[in-house]
Amino acid sequence: MALVVQKYGGTSMGTIERIRNVAKRVIKTYDAGNDMVVIVSAMSGETNKLVALANEVTEFPDNREYDVLVASGEQVSIALLAMCLKSMGYKAKSYHGWQIPIITDNVFSKARIEEIDDKKVRADLKEGTIIIVAGFQGVDREGNVTTLGRGGSDTSAVAMAAALKADVCEIYTDVDGVYTTDPNICTDARKIEKVSYDEMLEMASLGAKVLQIRSVEFAKKYNVDIHVRSSFNDNPGTMVTKEDKDMEAVLVSGIAYDKNEAKIAVMRVPDKPGIAAKILSPLSEANISVDMIVQNVSEDSFTDFTFTVTKADFKKALAITKESAKEVEAKDVMTDENISKISIVGVGMRSHAGVATKMFETLAKEGINIQMISTSEIKVSVVVDAKYTELAVRVLHDAFGLAGAAA
Ligand code: ASP
Ligand code: MG
Repeated sequence: MALVVQKYGGTSMGTIERIRNVAKRVIKTYDAGNDMVVIVSAMSGETNKLVALANEVTEFPDNREYDVLVASGEQVSIALLAMCLKSMGYKAKSYHGWQIPIITDNVFSKARIEEIDDKKVRADLKEGTIIIVAGFQGVDREGNVTTLGRGGSDTSAVAMAAALKADVCEIYTDVDGVYTTDPNICTDARKIEKVSYDEMLEMASLGAKVLQIRSVEFAKKYNVDIHVRSSFNDNPGTMVTKEDKDMEAVLVSGIAYDKNEAKIAVMRVPDKPGIAAKILSPLSEANISVDMIVQNVSEDSFTDFTFTVTKADFKKALAITKESAKEVEAKDVMTDENISKISIVGVGMRSHAGVATKMFETLAKEGINIQMISTSEIKVSVVVDAKYTELAVRVLHDAFGLAGAAA
């Protein structure tokens, strides 16, 4: 007998019929003699609708009330799934994040889980009850409802698995697992059997939308193996786990892309110490993370300072940057929302030279201009015009031999 944590995403919970199917899957594992904790997302599209409502009220919705609003989607799905299980003759009980409680910090809309109390859950499990927990939400130490950022139910699931020392953490989604790239772009993309936490972190943060990045950070920290698989079939999925020797043998494991960033360029700033801090500090104070940064050096002691933020943070970041630009006496602030970040990822890069060069040559051959570059030990990312996204992904997938290779 094992303790199994399963998470079902919005698509898997999208209709009553699908919720019935989720219930059947849960029952199958439960009937095999396992304790079950199930984390669910809001029904697909619901969170987007709630966000749109908030934006209809005001351009900058109040942070606390925003979380009260968007957390409500998961309240609906926990109740429906618990009801469904009970109607099928099983003991089930739904929990909001605050009822567990899942304690977070107080950064609304991007809260981090700090602590999970497992007492109630343990007691219920002892009674043979199937526990259904609302993903995406928690509560801060003052009792305010918080949410964990879009896609946050993955993190709720991994955190529950870590807190309960679960034997398995299965994340059920609408894809079979993690692919070498988006199969919608490359029909010959293939499923990766096993991927390391670090590779997955790069791929998740780079826009391979399968898992929320924080869930992988959490899994790495607490050594939780995540099995990503489809709720629509019984195929084995992808294991996200500790790095091993096999993984290093592969040069590039995947090609990721991200159309979800926008570029802000502060033009002609007098080039002196402190500029980067003056531009970036107000953004971090507003909890906006900056991704890629490029600052050039100019001959006439002016510099252009360019960076990217997520599209969700763009409006706020621009307003803040315009203020800082005035302070540092920049000439202008320019923006570009039509960009795409393309990345190659693989732990094999640590021990192989020339990977970046091959990437740049491959893009050059197609006449794709590179606007920004950043690298880490296990990835190389470039920003290009968004219209080249598909082409860039395809040629890189080919160039690094990912197409059609054996799984
Ligand atoms: N419902 C939330 C969202 O759409 C959380 C999740 O699905 O993981 O972002
Ligand atoms: Mg998701």
